[in-house]
Amino acid sequence: MRIILVAVPGSGKTTIMGYVRKKVPDVQIVNFGDVMLEISKKKYGITNRDEMRKKIPVEEYRKVQEEAAEYIASLPGDVLVDTHASIKMMGGYYPGLPDRVVSKLKPDAIVLIEYDSKDILERRKGDPTRFRDQETEEEIEMHQMANRYYAFAAANAAECMVHIINFRGRPQSRPFEHAEIAADFIANLILSARKLK
Ligand code: AMP
Ligand code: MG
Repeated sequence: MRIILVAVPGSGKTTIMGYVRKKVPDVQIVNFGDVMLEISKKKYGITNRDEMRKKIPVEEYRKVQEEAAEYIASLPGDVLVDTHASIKMMGGYYPGLPDRVVSKLKPDAIVLIEYDSKDILERRKGDPTRFRDQETEEEIEMHQMANRYYAFAAANAAECMVHIINFRGRPQSRPFEHAEIAADFIANLILSARKLK
């Protein structure tokens, strides 16, 4: 099974992946941005993930994106892809899963996670290792809305399911609760597909 996990930057996708791995140890977890970085390091001298959306011309960016999709599509077994429905660049939204890319990836499901934008802002402050763009709550909410539309468009091209986990208005009762709930959902998707085999 191939599952694509999307959520705005700084929302904790990588943390969710860690919890999924605890429940399904043999799942392959791949970060689309890391694969793109490996490709663009060689070609464009990029040194970190947050430089790509600023330093690679858009026609080249498309090629890197497509090469990353081809590599990920070649991975065997159950694969979980950490990526974006849209990437905010130059004040607009660029598709992370355009038809050309998603038809290579051939996902069985796209899981979209949404949060209160206040929580996203807090989490971004807590990650000094990244060069995230400074955004307001309104801007984050707009990006989350754009991601819904982009996720639906991608699912249409891929002929796959979209699952939306909406944590808005559901504050955590303990740290990492949201990540664990999301991970349980994803682990169940994988394990129930295995049972059907
Ligand atoms: P992340 O580590 O999830 O914040 O992703 C880092 C960077 O990888 C993003 O800012 C994008 O430049 C790039 N990236 C990740 N997924 C995609 C995608 N599906 N299409 C295009 N760029 C992507
Ligand atoms: Mg991440």
